[in-house]
Formats: sequence, structure tokens, C-alpha cells
Amino acid sequence: MKTKIFGKAGISEAAEILKGGGLVAFPTETVYGLGGNGLDKEAAKKIYAAKGRPSDNPLILHVSSIEEVYPLVKALPEKAKKLMEAFWPGPLTLVLPKSDLVPKESTGGLETVALRSPENALTLDLIRACGFPIAGPSANLSGRPSPTEASHVFEDLGGRIEGILEDGAVGIGVESTIVDLSEDCPTLLRPGAITIEDLEEVLGEKIAIDPTLLGKSMAEGFIPKAPGMKYRHYAPKAEMLLFKKKEEEENDLRAGQEDIAKSILSYGGKELSDCPEQEVKKSVAKAILSYGEKELSVSPEKRIWILCGEDTAGLYQESGRFTVQILGRREEPLSMTHNLFRLLRKADEEGAELILGECYSEEGVGFALMNRLKKAAGQRILYV
Ligand code: AMP
Ligand code: MG
Repeated sequence: MKTKIFGKAGISEAAEILKGGGLVAFPTETVYGLGGNGLDKEAAKKIYAAKGRPSDNPLILHVSSIEEVYPLVKALPEKAKKLMEAFWPGPLTLVLPKSDLVPKESTGGLETVALRSPENALTLDLIRACGFPIAGPSANLSGRPSPTEASHVFEDLGGRIEGILEDGAVGIGVESTIVDLSEDCPTLLRPGAITIEDLEEVLGEKIAIDPTLLGKSMAEGFIPKAPGMKYRHYAPKAEMLLFKKKEEEENDLRAGQEDIAKSILSYGGKELSDCPEQEVKKSVAKAILSYGEKELSVSPEKRIWILCGEDTAGLYQESGRFTVQILGRREEPLSMTHNLFRLLRKADEEGAELILGECYSEEGVGFALMNRLKKAAGQRILYV
């Protein structure tokens, strides 16, 4: 199949494809989505097939207004309305008990449905032109970093879907915040650009955090509520590890210290406690030496990538051993989320073998940034 690229002028043609049961990827402010008719179980099946996604990992239904939500849910609780009014259109997905209109094929077999109104004018027009909610997970092949540009979508899904609605690079760069409102206590299932603090301010109550976000693992008996969380995500082909100075951990309450300790132990049974702490550069060099079990065969200086803040880039560049990639400005986590998935794709393209990533504050949007970084690194953090 030939994948057509549409712009603003192609919205009605793209809508016709969706109405006919086909798939069109669409831009949003978070990442590109892979769209199909959200009320059509055959379209849902096509989405799973195109992505190579396990069929128990549910989709998000995208709507263009709050009114469109009513037929899709059993009831619309006051809390949901408050959040929709405060943050829609925007990077917030709400999980609610689904109505019979929503096929289980779109919800991974669940009795709940995830809903969001994206902040992108073309996509809102596309939804209106369709007259039904557009189901969409991220428009990447399962396991690959989410697409933040139309070219990423084409790379993964070109020839597998009918079209892509193009609207340049997205702004935020990581997927929406997901809040489960299907039970009494609102629970954060996935962190995003809308922070826990933002949500609590609007709701005037505490938001619970799904234990898997705090590093609790399935092995310890925690079943993630957002089924997507159990799958390996954003994994670049390169080995990826995060590194962190020991003392940073003391101020870091959300990271789930015990679990991190465990993941260090599981990193080949090595602890890097003897590293000099005063110089980041030396510490990283040490981490790389301990990585020695795996031969870095060709020109190691090109194969080791450092993902870092603008402020520390010079430190790593000086050593001449790394390909240094600036994620963004440490004090503005959104500048980093914006670049993360693009850089992970670039690492694959350029044949990086080992990616070493800095850790950042988990406050505010930093929680979402660190969540994606940790997932990409398979939760492995080296203490240096
Ligand atoms: P993606 O945008 O590719 O991450 O896919 C949609 C995400 O929304 C998946 O990670 C799902 O786990 C999550 N999601 C969708 N529907 C539900 C639901 N009913 N309950 C919990 N999580 C959901
Ligand atoms: Mg995804």
C-alpha cells in the first residue's frame, strides 16, 4: 500500500479514508497518533496489526469536544468534567467506564475507555470531519520511540497505513498524562506535560500514583493499570543506561529508592561506589570501563553517546570520547521532552552502541521526562 501524505488541504480526503475503515496517522501536541475509526472494531484490529502491538494494550479515543464524550462513557463524573474543562484540548487523557458504543477491540478488552482531546487544529478538524472519535495509540512500531515528526511515522509505518496528516514537529514530544477516573480515587497512570501538581490544583484533592510509576515491578506482584506500562518501551537498539551522582538521590523521593538499588545490583552485580564523585567526567569514564564485558568493536568514541543538559555538555565534549547530544535545558524539562524521542531514533540511525543519559529532577514535568528516560534505559541507573 502507498502511504499518502496530507496537509491541511487534504483533511477531507483523510477523513474519507478513516470513514472507509482505513488508517491515517495524525499530529498532536504530544506525539503523532495512529488513527482509525474508534467505534469500528475492524479498524482497531488494523491499528494493532500495523503497529505490531499486543492486542491487550488499549488505544486512546480522540475527540474534538467535551460533548462528544457523553455517548462514549457510562457516566461523566464531576471530576472528569473539571479536568476536561481545565485542560482540553491538551495533553491529558482520562480513563472512564466505557459505554456499549465503544468496542472492546479498541480498549484492549477493558470495560474502561481512555479519552483525550488533542491540541492540534488539523487533527481537531479531522475528527470533526469524521464525525466519530479517532482511536489512536502512538504512530510508531511497537517498542520503537514514539514519533515526534511525520518522517518518523513514515519510517515505521510507511507502506502499512493509508495516510499521514502532516503538521511538522510536535511541541511536547512525550505522550499525554493519563489519569484513571474509573474508581473513586483519581490515579496517575502515565506522567506527561500536565503534572500531578496541575491536576491536584484543579481537583482540590490528592492524586494517587500507580505503583509501577514508582519503580514497583510486576515481579513484586504489581499489575499495572495501564496495560502499556508492562511492555518494553522506546528501546533504542543501543544499550542504554542512566547515570546519577550518589548524593542526588537524597533529594529524590519519587524515584523509588529500593528499586533503583535493586536495578544497580542487577547490573552485572557491579557497584561503582569507588568512583570519584567530584568530577562527572571521570565517573562516566569509569562507568564505561565497567561496561567492558561487551566489546565496543568499532571506533568507541563514535559509538558512545551521552545525552545531557546544555550546561554539562562541555564536560563530556572535552574528553573527546563521546558523541555528545544535548537534550535541552535542565531547568526546562519541556525543552528535553521535546528532543528525547528524536534523539533516540537518531542514535539508532547513527549506530550508537551505548547511550549514557544524565538524570534530572523529577519535579513537575521532570517526572514525565525521567519516566521515559528510565523506560528507554530499561530502568537501569548507574550510581557514580
Ligand atoms: P500509546 O498512546 O501508544 O501509549 O497508547 C495508549 C496508552 O493509553 C496505552 O499505554 C494504554 O495502556 C493507555 N490506555 C488506553 N486505554 C486505557 C484504559 N482503559 N485503561 C488504562 N490505560 C489505558
Ligand atoms: Mg505508544
